[in-house]
Amino acid sequence: MVHMKKGELAPEEKELLEVIGKGTVQEAGTLLSSKNVRVNCLDENGMTPLMHAAYKGKLDMCRLLLRHGADVNCHQHEHGYTALMFAALSGNKDITWAMLEAGAETDVVNSVGRTAAQMAAFVGQHDCVTIINNFFPRERLDYYTKPQGLDKDPKLPPKLAGPLHKIITTTNLHPVKIVMLVNENPLLAEEAALSKCYKVMDLICEKCMKQRDMNEILAMKMHYISCIFQKCITFLKDGENKLDALIRSLLKGRASDGFPVYQEKIIRESIRKFPYCEATLLQQLVQSIAPVEIGSDPTAFSVLTQAITGQVGFVDVEFCTTCGEKGASKRCSVCKMVIYCDQTCQKTHWFTHKKICKNLKEVYEKQQLEAAKAKSHKENTDGKLDVSASRAYEEQPGAEVGVTQEACSAQGCVEGEKEPLGSEAALGSAPETPAGPQAAEE
Ligand SMILES: [Zn+2]
Ligand SMILES: [Zn+2]
Repeated sequence: MVHMKKGELAPEEKELLEVIGKGTVQEAGTLLSSKNVRVNCLDENGMTPLMHAAYKGKLDMCRLLLRHGADVNCHQHEHGYTALMFAALSGNKDITWAMLEAGAETDVVNSVGRTAAQMAAFVGQHDCVTIINNFFPRERLDYYTKPQGLDKDPKLPPKLAGPLHKIITTTNLHPVKIVMLVNENPLLAEEAALSKCYKVMDLICEKCMKQRDMNEILAMKMHYISCIFQKCITFLKDGENKLDALIRSLLKGRASDGFPVYQEKIIRESIRKFPYCEATLLQQLVQSIAPVEIGSDPTAFSVLTQAITGQVGFVDVEFCTTCGEKGASKRCSVCKMVIYCDQTCQKTHWFTHKKICKNLKEVYEKQQLEAAKAKSHKENTDGKLDVSASRAYEEQPGAEVGVTQEACSAQGCVEGEKEPLGSEAALGSAPETPAGPQAAEE
C-alpha cells in the first residue's frame, strides 16, 4: 500500500470532495476516471472521499466510490474514525448497511476506544446500532454448507442456510418470535434440522469469542438463539402440540399478575449458560439481572435486547406483548393495557391474558380516573372550570362498574376483535400439556 500523506491533494481530488457534498454522481464519476484522482486520497484530517460521502448521507456517492475501489476500512482519520463510523453517526441506515455489505469491520475502534455501534448509540442513532450489531453476512453461514476438512457432509444442509440466516439477522430476540419463525418453516421445525442449526451457531459463537477482534455481542446472540433452538428440540420430542406448546409455556402468566415466569427463567438460564465466563458482556448481563426479583423490571429480555441491539429508551415505540415485535398498535379493547401486532398475536396470548384482563381493565380505569382528576384539578386551578368535564368525572365510577360487570359476563368485550373470544373457547378447552406452563412454575 502506498503511504499517502494527509492533505496533499491534487486539484481534481479537492474538486471531488466538493462534488461529493454539492455535486452530482455524474460529476463525481467523471472526476474518478481522471488519472489524477486517487479514490482513497486523504484530506488534511485523514478523511477519504468515502468518509465524506458517508458522513454527508450521500448513498449514491458511496456506491459510486465503492465501485471505484474505495477502501471501506481505511483507518487514517486523525481520530481513528472509519467510513462505517461516519455512516452510523449520520444516522443513515442505507449507508450503514452499504458499508457493512462492502466489508466494513465492526470492531475497529476510534482513538477513544469506541466502535461504530457505540458511537452511534452515543449520539442516539439506534437504528444504525441495530443494523451494525445484527449484521451477519450470509457468506459466513454459507461456509458451513460446504464440507470442511475431513467432513464428508457439510455441517449445515444448504437448504437450511436461508431460513437460519433469517433468524440470525432478526433484531427481535423475543423467544416467542424466534419459536414462531422456526414454527412457520417446515424445513426448520424438526429435530434433526434444529440440531444441525444450533451446533453451527455454537461454532459461530466460539469463533466470535476466539477471533482476534472478539465480538461478544454476536457470540451472545448466537448462543441465545442456540438455547432457544435446543428448547424447541425438547418440545418437539414430547407433547402433541409441540412448538405451539412451547409458545404457550413462554406466554403463560402467573396467577398474581400475569408475569410470564417461564419465559423469564428461560432467558436468564440461556444467559447464565454462556460458555465464556470471562466475557465482559456476560458479567454485565448477570450483574443487571441477578438482583432483580422475577416479575420486576428490568426483565431479562429487555436487558438482553438492550445489550445486543443497543436499543435504549424506546419510549415512544410499543412492543407486541406476545412476540416483542416493534411498532405494535392493536390494543386489547377491554383492558387497553396490552398491545399486539395483529389478531394472531392477540389470539395466541388470549389463553393467559383472559385471566387478568379484567384486573388490568380496573387498573386502566383507575389510571384514567386519576388522569381525569388531575386534569380537572388543573382546569380548576387554572380558573377555567369546565362543568361538563367535572360532571363526567363525578358520574364515572358508577358507570365503570357497570361496564366491568358486563365485561365479566358478556361475550362481546373484545371490540372489533371478536376472534380472540372465539378462540378463547377453543384455546381454553385445549388440554394443558404436561411439559407446559405448570412445569414452568416449579
Ligand atoms: Zn406480535
Ligand atoms: Zn385485555
